[in-house]
Amino acid sequence: MSIRTKVLSYNIRTKVLSYNIRTKVLSYMSRPDPITTMELLKGLLNLIYPPRCLICGKLLEDNDGLCPKCFQGIEIIKHPCCNICGKPLQPESFIGIDDPVCFDCRKRKFFFNYARSIGKYKGILKECIHLLKYKGKKVLLKPLDKLIKTCLDELIPFEKISFITQVPLHKKRLRERGFNQSGLIAGLIGNRYQIPVLSNLLNRIVYTPPQATLTKVERLRNIKGVFAVVGTPSWVECGTILLIDDVYTTGATVNECAKVLKKAGAQEVYVLTLAHGI
Ligand SMILES: [Zn+2]
Ligand SMILES: [Zn+2]
Repeated sequence: MSIRTKVLSYNIRTKVLSYNIRTKVLSYMSRPDPITTMELLKGLLNLIYPPRCLICGKLLEDNDGLCPKCFQGIEIIKHPCCNICGKPLQPESFIGIDDPVCFDCRKRKFFFNYARSIGKYKGILKECIHLLKYKGKKVLLKPLDKLIKTCLDELIPFEKISFITQVPLHKKRLRERGFNQSGLIAGLIGNRYQIPVLSNLLNRIVYTPPQATLTKVERLRNIKGVFAVVGTPSWVECGTILLIDDVYTTGATVNECAKVLKKAGAQEVYVLTLAHGI
């Protein structure tokens, strides 16, 4: 049995449980059909509060979060980029160099194969990540899914990936926020590429200050020993894992996660983030 099949059967078991609960809840609900009611409510809400672009405020036909102009304004990372961290590089500096690696990556040890980011952590994409992460604007998952569809094929060798997981939040922060934005992105990718997502594989065992508030040296120190692999199923060994995070800054967080995944037996780890801090 392949690793993907094993993970799928594990996920299906969990899904059957949630399906049973859902069926019970539905049986308690009386007519009219709850889906129709929900759609009616949605329609009414759209009439009272017509959907607007969350960036420029323009009225939208559908509640898609972003207008086409703002979506087009997301700065996608194009080649050439650093072979390790995916940072975009100046084309002129690579004539004749087959293996471009940026200055920051030259002297560091990495536990992942390579990291890639979809866009630059600035402008519209930065605002989208903030709105999703700190304001809970999950409607932005729609344009983000569109973004994944547009440019992910070339970034990651999906045919090799056994399963997907994400950088975990500490349970205290997860309680405050109510969701893990990287987990939501992992779900979108898993769904699009039909790859199982193991959202509880990694655990954040130490509560640390947010990386964004720290210097580069502090970030490296802050993240050491923070993650652990939970109850490693045997098929994690030999698996090729795609690790998801929202932003790549110094790579300290994803590198620490990759380290514990490798220690648990993972064969290869690829990293994908929505944005690169550059
Ligand atoms: Zn707009
Ligand atoms: Zn680099």
